[in-house]
Amino acid sequence: MTLSLPTYADVEAAAARIAGVAHRTPVMTSTTANDALGAKLFFKCENLQRMGAFKFRGGYNSLARFTPEQKKTGVVAFSSGNHAQAVALSARLLGIPATIIMPHDAPVTKVAATKGYGAEVVMYDRYTEDREEIGKRLSEEKGLTLIPPYNHPDVIAGQGTAAKELIEEVGELDILLAPVGGGGLLSGSALAAKALSPSCQVIGVEPEAGNDAQRSLKSGKIVHIDTPKTIADGAQTQHIGDLTYAIMSRDVAEIRTASDAELVEAMRFFAARMKLVVEPTGCLGFAAARQLGDAARGKRIGIILSGGNVDIARFCELLA
Ligand SMILES: *Cc1c(COP(=O)(O)O)cnc(C)c1O
Repeated sequence: MTLSLPTYADVEAAAARIAGVAHRTPVMTSTTANDALGAKLFFKCENLQRMGAFKFRGGYNSLARFTPEQKKTGVVAFSSGNHAQAVALSARLLGIPATIIMPHDAPVTKVAATKGYGAEVVMYDRYTEDREEIGKRLSEEKGLTLIPPYNHPDVIAGQGTAAKELIEEVGELDILLAPVGGGGLLSGSALAAKALSPSCQVIGVEPEAGNDAQRSLKSGKIVHIDTPKTIADGAQTQHIGDLTYAIMSRDVAEIRTASDAELVEAMRFFAARMKLVVEPTGCLGFAAARQLGDAARGKRIGIILSGGNVDIARFCELLA
């Protein structure tokens, strides 16, 4: 079976759909960071996106395409947090009933925000239960449309709009770094980069504790792992998807990893020097940029700060 992969035209269509609803987030720079790396860094601040992460882009793009019938019956989604909030907020904006399946250990702010957007939350144990199964069951029993967090053409196309905005604003890049969980953000970013800055090297970054995407691209097939234990809760995925894998293996140059300690250091830098609250997963790109050494020198590097949803108490604890 051949997969029908989203293209850059789908990213453009998504951009039109989310225009005026999603924020066009700022691109920030830091002389300190530029000097430290000998490069020009452009930070795309999706931590300042609606609901606090880029996932609003893919969520809203997917729900906006529902038929009137799908809109009436409702949507179901499973997520460790940000996709949940993205679907919940998009559903509220579009008048669609939403059911969200969340792990019992999801960050308190993410659960509270999802409920706050009016969604019904169903809890599960991420170490013993299969959320995809729960999602499928709910969609079959109640006729709800399942919107997965990354392996869906409309989700991927929506996520690609952040990189599209970044490159349109700052011009062509030599390197683009984006975090990888299931690969929706990275594959969407790669579609945009290949169209707007063809020579740009697109690099994905995942937590050291769960380098399944890196192993998948190296081995030529999707590698499944146990839920990795890392502070990067937005990238605790067990595997990438067949759509995201296909795009990544075609358009992504490399996957790097960052340790939790490197993420905390990056988080501290953003807070202290740039006055930005970035959640641990959102720090993956910059943490990897700092590892590049000579490969970064003189380069124009785009970095997607993917989200800012971290409990304040947790944030303080990590930085203490
Ligand atoms: C979901 C998420 C990611 C990973 O995105 P994928 O599309 O699953 O690869 C990265 N950062 C944040 C903040 C997220 O919420």
